[in-house]
Amino acid sequence: MSNCAIVGINWGDEGKGRMVDLLTEKYDVVVRFQGGGNAGHTVINEKGKFALHLLPSGIFRNGVVNILGNGVALDPENLWNEMNQVMSQGVSLTPENLKISDRASLLLPWHRDLDELEEQRLADKKYGSTKQGIAPFYSDKYQKKTILAGELFYPEELKAHLRDLMEWKNLTLTKVYGAEAYTEEKLDRWLQDCCEKIKPYVSNTGAFLKQAQKEGKNILFEAQLGSLRDLDYGICPYTTSSNTTAAYAPIGSGLPSAKLDEVVGVVKAYSTCVGEGPFVCEMFGDEAEELRKAGFEYGAKTGRPRRVGPIDIVATRYGVEVQAATAIALTKLDVLSYMDKIPVCTHYILDGEQTDDFPFPTALKNAKPVIEYFDGWQCDVSAVRKWEDLPEQARAYVDFIEKQIGCPIKYISVGPERESIIIR
Ligand code: GDP
Repeated sequence: MSNCAIVGINWGDEGKGRMVDLLTEKYDVVVRFQGGGNAGHTVINEKGKFALHLLPSGIFRNGVVNILGNGVALDPENLWNEMNQVMSQGVSLTPENLKISDRASLLLPWHRDLDELEEQRLADKKYGSTKQGIAPFYSDKYQKKTILAGELFYPEELKAHLRDLMEWKNLTLTKVYGAEAYTEEKLDRWLQDCCEKIKPYVSNTGAFLKQAQKEGKNILFEAQLGSLRDLDYGICPYTTSSNTTAAYAPIGSGLPSAKLDEVVGVVKAYSTCVGEGPFVCEMFGDEAEELRKAGFEYGAKTGRPRRVGPIDIVATRYGVEVQAATAIALTKLDVLSYMDKIPVCTHYILDGEQTDDFPFPTALKNAKPVIEYFDGWQCDVSAVRKWEDLPEQARAYVDFIEKQIGCPIKYISVGPERESIIIR
């Protein structure tokens, strides 16, 4: 038996979905343990191209059981739409290969409204939310003001619970934001149109995982976003509202007794960041546009152009430490092939001093990047499958990153397809 978490080291969008899709070959169960439908995991395999938001990236492998754990923000409406989309592309989803934890809390319809209303109120001070209702959802979860998926099996109690929550939430909607109040009819429709559809997939996944552990099954824990977006360890307040770190995997998956044997941290060969907040190594102008185009850096969920920059060693080293990564998957190395000189942010300057420590969030906006340049390889590496076949300059670039971040780079991805990988 072996347990492995696949997590993001930076700001998210590192290519975790692609790595989960690749590595699920060795696993029996894949669990999403945090976050919600604001993720955008792109997976390309023999079944086609998929943009997954909430579904675990193991759904393409026959025999793999996929679980949405208690730590996720379970949006029944978005999940049902996503399931239909994936099924229309020929992927089979049944209660046997997709299981929803009965302890997962439901993202309620007003969470999305509140996300939008609060970003509007913040105007130019907005956090850059994807407006999927994730922050209002998690704050309500911690106030114990939401519904567990398992409550769908208790319709009478559920209706009364939902009515109480609606009365409470209408106070905020109408009195704070001047928005429209929810009605019982609207919620009944939501229960019927969305919740009833996903109900057959809801079960006691904690018991399932415990049994899987007993039988020595291999379990893969799939994270959303990255270290720098972690609620506790990220760049507050430009984080997400859950813990994106491997340490949370046992709690959010429903297997609190799980020990992680391996943590694969996914790092992109350059940096990208969606939304607001300090981004020390950010590139601007034509240089940024060229990299954005080469890497096709536009959000999978929102289509927003991603902010781009060179790999940031200071942030990445911090991200590796926060995740306690045991191996790194370096993705999108092929994207850098057009560069003559490859920039790397090796240190920060803060208050006139050079530093390798990732600064406190408030100080981060004052940090300036120290940029060093590496020779580019300027040839297509997307067909390379062996380390020794990579150009010398590419190997020097990878070796340098590995040494600086202090974690072995075991996988090097040179294309979005499943097989475009070098394993060292
Ligand atoms: P995730 O949220 O961490 O799964 O990352 P995303 O799916 O948002 O972003 C990764 C994007 O890069 C997707 O469009 C992938 O298909 C693509 N991708 C992943 N690895 C590689 C790679 O090695 N090379 C190239 N060119 N694209 C990649």
